[in-house]
Amino acid sequence: LNKLYSTNNLERRELIKLLSSIDNKHKKILFEYADIVRKKIYGKKVFLRGIIEFSNYCKNSCMYCGLYASNKIINRYRMSKFEIMECCKKGYEMGYRTFVLQSGEDPYYTDEMLKSTISSIKHAFPDAAITLSIGERTKLSFNMLFNAGADRYLLRHEAAEKNLYEKLHPHMSHDNRINCLKILKDIGYQVGAGFIVGLPNQSLEDIVEDLMFLKNLNPHMVGIGPFISHPQTPLKNSPNGSVDMTIICLSIIRLLLPHVLLPATTALRCLDAHSWERSLKAGANVIMTNLTPQEQRKKYDIYKGKGNTADNANTLTVEVKDLIKNAGYEVDMGRGDHISISKLS
Ligand code: SAM
Repeated sequence: LNKLYSTNNLERRELIKLLSSIDNKHKKILFEYADIVRKKIYGKKVFLRGIIEFSNYCKNSCMYCGLYASNKIINRYRMSKFEIMECCKKGYEMGYRTFVLQSGEDPYYTDEMLKSTISSIKHAFPDAAITLSIGERTKLSFNMLFNAGADRYLLRHEAAEKNLYEKLHPHMSHDNRINCLKILKDIGYQVGAGFIVGLPNQSLEDIVEDLMFLKNLNPHMVGIGPFISHPQTPLKNSPNGSVDMTIICLSIIRLLLPHVLLPATTALRCLDAHSWERSLKAGANVIMTNLTPQEQRKKYDIYKGKGNTADNANTLTVEVKDLIKNAGYEVDMGRGDHISISKLS
């Protein structure tokens, strides 16, 4: 732990040892180190983002995800540009300055449609940042969306170990996903990668691969969430991932990548009501609040319990702000760019 704290690096065998033998005393030290590092770089600020889940159509078959293409039970929806803009408007009035546009991988939204939506959002809310989380696209498409005004792109690598990835993502290519991340970085997006903890057949060595992959990629943002089984997927009988292991991984990432923007992820809160507070105290510095209208939100059913919140965006925002303050941190509704970018501007 001292080596990780002082050098921001560990070798593979040291990471395996850390993950396999960490006890409560050392967990406490790990979380404290992560909190110190996060405070050194971002202070006590927690950045709030507003997520708009604009389509639950998906052409892929990720075996863990409720949106997967052959799920015939799910009620599908798509939001129009006007509906997306309305969500941004409400979010902007609440103070949000980052809008995360997320969807399944839905080819219905052409580059032209996305460009037009992005530029209208930028025109109406010039001081807000746009994050896309819409899956793999071509280099040309990534370029066009960046030129239209998108600032950031979230594309979790999901699993760095190729065999594990390919078992869980039929007809998808691990190489392509990793290549997309590299292209996004080269274009100039602030890029987010990340993985799922507790996937069926995932070993500790696989998690270490994820941590080392992220250290090497050096993305601006990292999303790590526990696997949550979904009753309409092939993995419906698999146990959920561990909240504890997820928070340990968040802390390790804060120490491996001190400047990273690190959300306390939605899946964590789904499994454990106290996990956001625990994550903030263990290195996390971002929370995403849901701006999707309730009618669509309940259909964005990635995993069990995901769409269950009955609260509207205003109530959720107040709740999250209270949670942050009660945990001893400060709410920041600004764009919340990666420190390397915000220093430039
Ligand atoms: N389609 C986009 C993509 O591929 O990046 C974004 C939407 S996708 C639904 C968002 C994230 O949900 C995925 O990156 C995945 O890590 C997470 N996810 C999906 N199903 C999950 C599950 N059952 N448990 C935990 N996380 C899950």
